[in-house]
Amino acid sequence: MDAILVVNAGSSSVKFQVFALDGEGRLRREIKGQMDGIGSRPRLRATGTTGDTLADRAYPIESIPDVPAALLVAAAWLRDELQLSPLAVGHRVVHGGPDYDRPVLIDHGVVARLERLTTLAPLHQPHNLAPIRSLLAKFPSLPQVACFDTAFHRDHDELADHYAIPRRLHDEGVRRYGFHGLSYEYIAKSLPNIAPEIAQGRVIVAHLGSGASMCAIHGGRSVESTMGFTALDGLPMGTRTGQIDPGVVLYLMSAKGMSPAEAQDFLYRDCGLKGLSGVSNDMRELQNSSDPWAAFAIDHFVYRVALHAGMLAAALQGLDAFVFTAGIGENSVGIRARIAERLEWLGVSLDPAENARHAPRISRAGSRIPVYIVPTNEELMIAQHTLSLLCDRHSSSIPKQVRAS
Ligand code: ADP
Repeated sequence: MDAILVVNAGSSSVKFQVFALDGEGRLRREIKGQMDGIGSRPRLRATGTTGDTLADRAYPIESIPDVPAALLVAAAWLRDELQLSPLAVGHRVVHGGPDYDRPVLIDHGVVARLERLTTLAPLHQPHNLAPIRSLLAKFPSLPQVACFDTAFHRDHDELADHYAIPRRLHDEGVRRYGFHGLSYEYIAKSLPNIAPEIAQGRVIVAHLGSGASMCAIHGGRSVESTMGFTALDGLPMGTRTGQIDPGVVLYLMSAKGMSPAEAQDFLYRDCGLKGLSGVSNDMRELQNSSDPWAAFAIDHFVYRVALHAGMLAAALQGLDAFVFTAGIGENSVGIRARIAERLEWLGVSLDPAENARHAPRISRAGSRIPVYIVPTNEELMIAQHTLSLLCDRHSSSIPKQVRAS
C-alpha cells in the first residue's frame, strides 16, 4: 500500500496517522495511533478505520527515552507488523517564522532554519524538530515535509501583523503570527463543497478545543487571528491564559518574584479554564461540575469568544457566516448555543433542534448569518500537502490529482 505517515510530535507523546493513497490519488486514513507516556510509561496505541484496536502495548521506560525513539518504534511496528513503509512523512511544525508561508520539503538547511525559530516557540518547536532530525539521519532518502501552524496566516496585512513596538523587534520576528493554521486551511478548503454560497465571503471560524483560537477568513484567506506572537494570546484555553495585559506578566515577575521560566510555565499550564475554575481544564468536566467557579469559567469562555468575534467581524468589515470546529466547537451543544445567543446582535439565530443533532448547518433558515459545524482534519491537510510536494518532486510516478476522500 502506498502511504503517507503524518506525525504530530509533542513533549511526551507522538501522535501519528497513516493515509493510504488509492490509484486516483485520493487519501484515506487507515491508521490512527499514538505513543504516549514517553519518559514515564511508554505505551503504543493504534486503531484502524473502524476504530478496531491494532496495537495496545507497553514498553519499558529505558527502551523509549524520548520522542524520536518513540517515533522510530512506531515506524518499526508499522513496517514489521503491518508491512507499511511510507512514501513520505508529513510533520506538524508549530512555527514557520516570517518566511515559510507554505509547507516545505525538509533538508538539513530547512532544519537549521527551523531550529533558529525555537526561541519563538520554545515549548513546541524543539519537540516537532527532534523526530525530523532523527528520521533524516536514519533514512536520508525518505522525503519529509514540514507543515506549519503559522503558514496560513502569513499573508496578513501589515496592519494585522504588527504590534505597536519599535520596528526592529518586528524585523527580528516579534510579530502577530497566528496559529491553528492547518485547521483553518482545511476548513477554508472544505467550504466550497460544504457551503459554496459563503466560501468566497467573510467567515469567522472558531477552533474551540483545549487550545482555542478564532480566525477571520475572507475569500478563503486568513486576514486576522486571535492568536499572535505565541499560542498564548486570544481566547482563554484549557490551561493557557489567552489575552492578558502584559502588565500582569510584569506583576508576576516583579511582585511575585517569578522567573521568566516560572512565568511561562504558569501562563501556559496553570491558567485558562483550569486556573479560573480551580476544577479542571476540560470543558466536559466543567459542564458536569456543580462548583460555581466551573460555571463561571464557562461563562468567561463564552463571553471571550463572543468578544473576539466582534473584533474579527470588525477586521472583516462585516460577516457572512460563522463556523464552529474542534473538540468543544464540534461537540458541545450548550456552548454553541450560548455563544450564538451572544452573537444575536450580529444576526445569528440558531436552530435549537439542528444544533442538538450536530447538523452541518445549525442556524435557522432565516438567520442573517448562517452558522455551520465543520469537523476539522489537520492531519488530512498535512497528508495532502505532503503528497503534493511529493508529486512535484516525482511528477511521473504518483497521480497528480490530490483530493480529500
Ligand atoms: P486539542 O486537540 O486542542 O487537544 P480537542 O479539539 O480534542 O483539543 O478538544 C478538547 C476539548 O473539547 C476538551 O475541553 C473537551 O472537554 C472538549 N469536548 C469534547 N467533547 C465535548 C462535549 N461533548 N461537550 C463539551 N466539551 C467537549
